[in-house]
Amino acid sequence: MDERAEALDRDDPLAAYRSRFVGADTDLVYLDGNSLGRPLAATGDRMRTFVEHEWGGRLIRGWDESWMELPLVVGDELGLTCLGAAPGQVAVADSTTVLLYKLLRAAVAARPGRDEVVVDTDNFPTDRYVAEGVAAERGLRLRWVETDPTAGLTTEQVAGVLSDRTAVVLASHVAYRSAWVADVPAVTRLAHDAGALVLWDLSHSVGSVPAELDAWGVDYAVGCTYKYLNGGPGSPAFGYVAARHLADLAQPVTGWMGHADPFAMGPGHTPDPGVRRLLSGTPPILAMQPLRDMLPLIGAAGIEAVRAKSVGLTSYAIELADELLAPHGVVVSSPRDAERRGGHVTLGHPRMREVVAALWRRDVVPDYRDPDGLRIGLSPLSTSYGEVRRGIEEVAALLAG
Ligand SMILES: *Cc1c(COP(=O)(O)O)cnc(C)c1O
Repeated sequence: MDERAEALDRDDPLAAYRSRFVGADTDLVYLDGNSLGRPLAATGDRMRTFVEHEWGGRLIRGWDESWMELPLVVGDELGLTCLGAAPGQVAVADSTTVLLYKLLRAAVAARPGRDEVVVDTDNFPTDRYVAEGVAAERGLRLRWVETDPTAGLTTEQVAGVLSDRTAVVLASHVAYRSAWVADVPAVTRLAHDAGALVLWDLSHSVGSVPAELDAWGVDYAVGCTYKYLNGGPGSPAFGYVAARHLADLAQPVTGWMGHADPFAMGPGHTPDPGVRRLLSGTPPILAMQPLRDMLPLIGAAGIEAVRAKSVGLTSYAIELADELLAPHGVVVSSPRDAERRGGHVTLGHPRMREVVAALWRRDVVPDYRDPDGLRIGLSPLSTSYGEVRRGIEEVAALLAG
């Protein structure tokens, strides 16, 4: 084992958390925590207990006893531990795609008479596709900002397209390709100065880069829970609606679970006065269970300490890339400034597609993103410095071979 990696692991104040994750004790090198986090061992126990006692024992009574509130209870905890959001503004539901749709429609409806939505060309595909769908449905024009795929959306670019026609700016906190951290407070301020609203996607930041949604004045936000929140494949997303927008929030999927009194079963939809109105149908209670262990874990570690480890891991990955991979022609396609870089690092080389396929066969698991990027996603609580070292040594060996 490399001495420097060993020293970094020895001095890591969060090192002890790693053993709580399934598979962390094997030789597999997992560098894709930004696509699907490892499960906590506690999640297996919780799922079993849930089936045997809560579901199997309480049966339909579970809805009255706790499940009806769970989307908001988990939402509040997420707000507290990761989002800088006071209680009553976050609900857990649906997928990110569906919540994006609901909140983009709500945001556009809150700015009648304005007919433009600002989007950037390198936002995650589903965000762009949803924006296109909403634009077609509502007769809006998309104002595309051309972002540099090795960096990301700048405040200057946003300033250049805002006008009194802008209804909403839709953007990602951390870019999925480069890991660029957008200046959320500055972009939000600019949009507000132009009379527009903002909808931020936190999928690639939540659980690794802290957010201060209330302090930043954000209007709406969404994000997923299966990346740095280790919720498991297809775990539900979350939506944030600033308290000042709740009373008027007009989301288009007005189902019974967002009704002020779901069991009145009366005629007509009266939305719940709070963030529950963001819900549509029966919430995925089973799929929320893993968050009940992961969120307290992040709370215990502290999101600022999680971010500090994340910066340590990505900085080390870049240091190793410069030392071991640059001689093979690899370039760093992520920001070098730690403050502008989220929780992953993208390394470019024309052979990365085949390199990643070979790595997977060797139990070294990063992922690949076009055009030539090997993406290393470093989940702070479950990744060691030694793991990063072993992963990058394998890349070097493959490129040398
Ligand atoms: C991962 C991710 C999504 C995923 O959306 P799903 O509806 O969960 O498939 C959306 N947007 C961004 C920015 C992401 O990183």
